[in-house]
Amino acid sequence: MTLTPLPAFDDNYLWLLDNGREALVVDPGDAAPVAAALDARGLTLAGILLTHHHSDHVGGVDALRSRLQGPIYAPAHEKMPEPVTRVQGGQSVDLLGLRFAVMDVPGHTAGHIAYFAAQVPGSDPLLFCGDTLFSGGCGRLFEGSPAQMHASLQSLAALPGRTRVCCAHEYTLSNLRFAREVDPYNTALATYSAWCEAERAAGRPTLPGRIGTEVHINPFLRCTEPALRDAARRHAPTQLPTAPSPVDVFAALREWKNGFR
Ligand SMILES: [Zn+2]
Ligand SMILES: [Zn+2]
Repeated sequence: MTLTPLPAFDDNYLWLLDNGREALVVDPGDAAPVAAALDARGLTLAGILLTHHHSDHVGGVDALRSRLQGPIYAPAHEKMPEPVTRVQGGQSVDLLGLRFAVMDVPGHTAGHIAYFAAQVPGSDPLLFCGDTLFSGGCGRLFEGSPAQMHASLQSLAALPGRTRVCCAHEYTLSNLRFAREVDPYNTALATYSAWCEAERAAGRPTLPGRIGTEVHINPFLRCTEPALRDAARRHAPTQLPTAPSPVDVFAALREWKNGFR
């Protein structure tokens, strides 16, 4: 199995997974880079996985239908380019001989879903999480509450540490700038930041990430850590109770990040 992040727009990755003959693509916001990759490598498009309704994730779907030889799986409760096969948390979908568990991860949008393959022959588990989890950060809360997003992120953080995290945007360096601001004494974060900066300087993606790394460096997965709780309380002393819950800390960090430059 070959996993390829196809760059699109300013900072999107359209994830292509193939077995040398057939491919699936996740969130094809633009058809052109997908078509070019399929043609260059002589691949058949066997299926499309969609995580949420934003146009940079679904905009290329209709233009890919003519070459599609399989299903389009999409969230049950979002506006989608029809026809699609609707799925939701608790279900699973089979593509390229892999079984993907569908997870409900509301927060960025109300009906956002993620796809997790626990068994990938010869490789580690795979997670396609759209705009829910980014390396060093998380999606903005356009439609969901902090409690929903926090629960969604916790369900992703509970996946096996080896899981490769296929995020839909290359936001890593800007996320890590914020992470270092709120978690300055985290040595794993400093080491990871240096590695990511070298990757970007060499023109390479920082993704896919790993769950086992994110749980140590991503402030939005670390809301129970005293360092993050104290940082949030120093930043928003009047808004936070003296003993804030993890959701309180998450909400304060997300607000802080929204205004962070
Ligand atoms: Zn989005
Ligand atoms: Zn996006």
